Amino acid sequence: TLMSANANNEETEQNEDTIRPQRLDDYIGQKDLKGILNIAIAAAKGREDSLDHLLLYGPPGLGKTTMSLILATEMGVNCKITSAPALERPRDITGLLVNLKPGDILFIDEIHRLNRMTEELLYPAMEDYRLDITIGKGQTAKTRSIPLPPFTLVGATTKAGALSSPLRDRFGIIQRLRFYELDELTLIVKRTAEILNASITEEGAIEIARRSRGTPRIANRLLRRVRDYTQVQKAETITDELAAMAMDLFDVDREGLDWTDRLVLNTIIQQFNGGPVGLEAIAAATGEDRKTIEEVYEPYLLQNGYLSRTHRGRIATNKTYQHLGYNSDKPSQT
Ligand code: ADP
Repeated sequence: TLMSANANNEETEQNEDTIRPQRLDDYIGQKDLKGILNIAIAAAKGREDSLDHLLLYGPPGLGKTTMSLILATEMGVNCKITSAPALERPRDITGLLVNLKPGDILFIDEIHRLNRMTEELLYPAMEDYRLDITIGKGQTAKTRSIPLPPFTLVGATTKAGALSSPLRDRFGIIQRLRFYELDELTLIVKRTAEILNASITEEGAIEIARRSRGTPRIANRLLRRVRDYTQVQKAETITDELAAMAMDLFDVDREGLDWTDRLVLNTIIQQFNGGPVGLEAIAAATGEDRKTIEEVYEPYLLQNGYLSRTHRGRIATNKTYQHLGYNSDKPSQT
């Protein structure tokens, strides 16, 4: 759908760089994370050392890539950005590693998807700044060690539990990113509006923030759609009324649930009698990818009480029945 919560479409890729905060002070929210990283930065600078390897986990769009770029700016080093699916062959990762300068940050997105060979090359690289490569094949194969400069690996994943434990154990700092509060998202909307040169009222910003599923990337995307709508309506300023009309038009409801969220919830209610139902069955019935449901849609629905998870599967809650306008309450589960 137009408003899909899924991470990467071209438009966001192109515009994202101009609206990303550049310094730690401009990074809104995530107080605990910022506190910990502030200390890590000060300590590393004091020792003239590279930052500890850092694992960031949490749903897409919460600011993992942004934080990695900020760390590089704060440390005065470069940040190279890649993702596990781009590191298919051993030479993909070795090529990146040997070109690092002292202190540089290597950001690997979706790090739980690294293949075994790449992952094993990373172990000595992370631990001893050493690259062990094998030259030749079979009986005559030799291993050579190449020293690497000290560097920082920042890994990002939607699921910390999907990482192998030897890899996870090599990160000095492991931090979860949280969904953002309404006031934080409101600030983010206002900040982005200023960068985009769009005029917006406080209530307009709140209306967008309320429908952003706790996620800065979605807030920024909704703001752009609302701005376009406002412009076409020949209005000068984004108000809460205009914002609400635009987002209704784009099928994002008052609680921020989009078309796919409602499809998933309606499917559980209509086809599975409210659950419990397994992810596979939901995926098959909706035609959505299982991983996307699990990693993109479900975390917000679970956190906000639209779904609950039991060992037998997902269950739609009373809140969901009410929100979606089912007359009777959910049938009691006995
Ligand atoms: P992730 O890597 O977790 O998927 P990104 O770092 O790409 O998410 O963030 C998505 C967008 O949201 C960025 O373009 C950035 O502008 C915005 N953003 C994320 N976190 C913040 C924040 N704490 N303050 C302001 N903007 C943010």
